Amino acid sequence: MLPVANPKTSISFELFPPKTEEGYQKLLATIEQLCALKPDFISCTYGAGGGSREKTLDIVEHIQTQWGIKAVAHLTCVLHTKDEILNILQEMKRRHIHQVLALRGDPPKEHPDWQPGPKNFKYSCELVSFIRQHFGSYFDIGVAGFPEGHLLAPNRDVDAQYLKSKIDAGADYVITQLFFNNQDYFDYRSRLKKLGVNKPVIPGILPITDYQALIKFCALCGASIPAQVHEIFKPIADNPEKMLEAGIHFAIQQCRQLLDKGAPGLHFYCLNKTHPVDVILKAVRE
Ligand SMILES: Cc1cc2nc3c(=O)[nH]c(=O)nc-3n(C[C@H](O)[C@H](O)[C@H](O)COP(=O)(O)OP(=O)(O)OC[C@H]3O[C@@H](n4cnc5c(N)ncnc54)[C@H](O)[C@@H]3O)c2cc1C
Repeated sequence: MLPVANPKTSISFELFPPKTEEGYQKLLATIEQLCALKPDFISCTYGAGGGSREKTLDIVEHIQTQWGIKAVAHLTCVLHTKDEILNILQEMKRRHIHQVLALRGDPPKEHPDWQPGPKNFKYSCELVSFIRQHFGSYFDIGVAGFPEGHLLAPNRDVDAQYLKSKIDAGADYVITQLFFNNQDYFDYRSRLKKLGVNKPVIPGILPITDYQALIKFCALCGASIPAQVHEIFKPIADNPEKMLEAGIHFAIQQCRQLLDKGAPGLHFYCLNKTHPVDVILKAVRE
């Protein structure tokens, strides 16, 4: 199941575990502010091979127990053996965590040539099957979707087939990679529908606040930047106030159109900050 009360209006935020204790304390304050916005759930990323892995479960447990908000633990399988994954899932269960976003992840820069062997999972669909095999319906399982196709997928149709294999393996819902052209999301949903995928596909939204960072980030994750976005943001790249204002305006328009055309919710990549998601959400909820 999608971890929300009303799947038609699911609002969620994504956090990442900070690297320092100071950052962690700051995040706890941000979580309090984000929970005051009454999201349906908050998810926390899992560093593929990074040192902050154990923090994911701490953050998820904190959100659930301290604030009574559903929280989703991302779990990536690169660099982990199946036995290790089983231990992590058992630890989640011990902590009463019911929500997992099942991912493959990417080999981290310290291990760029890492390849899965017989003791590892190759694709996230295998991780989804494994979770269902060992835990039945205990977990609600989300998976990642790529409206423009994953960076390494041969094309968008094949990518949609891969997404279907995750759903067939037992996933309940999809959260998408960020995108800026809503048509990519609508086309993606049509492709999935043709394949018989009817699970909720929640669009991932990144509010644009920094033009240079946007270019770097999109190059890494494979999201394209439409000409319209360059036209709006490039001329004001050196003016933080104007960037913020334009970023809020762009995100509000994007979110409104998505919801108007039937998106089942919005998942904000809020980069561990409350602002400007708070302003965007207020406008979208009006
Ligand atoms: C919402 C969201 C949250 C994320 N959270 C994290 C996080 O917490 N930590 C992190 O490190 N990364 C995270 N990522 C990034 C993600 O791990 C990478 O994009 C990764 O490259 C793909 O992960 P996946 O789960 O989609 O992998 P897969 O579904 O396994 O896909 C990986 C590659 O294999 C191909 N493929 C998939 N299935 C098959 C198949 N059956 N046969 C052949 N090829 C196949 C795909 O086209 C793709 O190229 C997130 C991405 C999204 C969209």
